Amino acid sequence: MLEFREKVSLKPYNTFGVDVITQKFIAIDSIDTLKKAITLSKKMPFRILGGGSNVLFTENFDGATFLMNNKGIIISNEDDHHVLVEVQAGENWHEFVVWCIKNNYGGVENLSLIPGSVGAAPIQNIGAYGVELKSIFYSCQALNVIDLSLKKFNAQECNFGYRTSAFKTDLKGKFIITSVCFQLKKVPHEIKISYGALKVHLKDKLPSIQNVAQAVIDIRQSKLPDPKKIGNGGSFFKNPLVSNSLLKRIQKLYPEIPNYPNSDNQVKIPAGWLIESLGFKGTRDGDAGVHKDQALVLVNYGSAKGSEIVALAKKIQSAVNQKFQIQLEIEVNIL
Ligand SMILES: Cc1cc2nc3c(=O)[nH]c(=O)nc-3n(C[C@H](O)[C@H](O)[C@H](O)COP(=O)(O)OP(=O)(O)OC[C@H]3O[C@@H](n4cnc5c(N)ncnc54)[C@H](O)[C@@H]3O)c2cc1C
Repeated sequence: MLEFREKVSLKPYNTFGVDVITQKFIAIDSIDTLKKAITLSKKMPFRILGGGSNVLFTENFDGATFLMNNKGIIISNEDDHHVLVEVQAGENWHEFVVWCIKNNYGGVENLSLIPGSVGAAPIQNIGAYGVELKSIFYSCQALNVIDLSLKKFNAQECNFGYRTSAFKTDLKGKFIITSVCFQLKKVPHEIKISYGALKVHLKDKLPSIQNVAQAVIDIRQSKLPDPKKIGNGGSFFKNPLVSNSLLKRIQKLYPEIPNYPNSDNQVKIPAGWLIESLGFKGTRDGDAGVHKDQALVLVNYGSAKGSEIVALAKKIQSAVNQKFQIQLEIEVNIL
């Protein structure tokens, strides 16, 4: 018999450290438990939670929260060059990366130290230091929340994009990812160190997957605020894609604006630069603030409510829009 905990604070389960109450709460350790939990929750809404590193709670939840906690890593296939690894959704992402590095399986090293669970990684196609999840994704298994059937999705069906996938758009709320299968390379393989900071950090070191992973860990620890010390959800906004013609108009006033070519007619602009140029870096409204070193990271200095962080985000969006005619899109899931 499944036991739901009643009226549980979600403060320990989200990296912003926002204190909201969920009516019911259960840790999910298997597909069977997940199916039973959905059946028992038929009359109330439910939500899926992994590591809580990409959510911002703005109110108490009159429903059930399912914490994905199913574990297991198995090699399902291998040849001389590749290995297919099937990982349960509740595994911690970085622990999985460490497992790969230890076993000399390459492809995932640039994604070291990203917080959260394996099951949530495809949702926004996590990415860092020039690599996205889609480059190592083979398939995932997901449970249909209506008829409780299991379906396998290949990369094409996931429709991955920049910080997005079908699970964040068309299929949102319809499937729960129960496991993810990755295709990794047995070394030696091509290592991606074109990303500026990574190249500099590695200097003369051999670009092995171990050294790349360690460089990424060092850079991240020196740059990003640790959620255990100060509540945050990583990058709060996506880096906007703008047309070349808009860029040219902005460059007349701000010739120094950084930009990276994305496609024929579009460039990517660092959202952090836009926010910093408006003087928001290091500012705070009560306990909601913009990090002192990273303008892209909104933080909870202690007891900020989710709604206060959202209000600050809206203020930033409106200021950026007014000055640059760019609409910043929020990356974090506001709940
Ligand atoms: C300090 C910091 C640094 C970060 N750096 C990066 C970075 O470099 N690159 C990057 O891409 N992201 C980054 N993030 C964002 C975050 O780590 C990722 O988005 C991560 O994949 C979220 O995983 P999670 O388990 O915490 O998801 P959660 O926050 O628990 O959930 C996120 C969303 O996915 C849904 N969800 C979770 N699990 C499942 C599942 N199994 N099935 C269906 N839906 C599910 C939830 O309902 C929610 O809508 C960072 C966050 C922090 C706090």
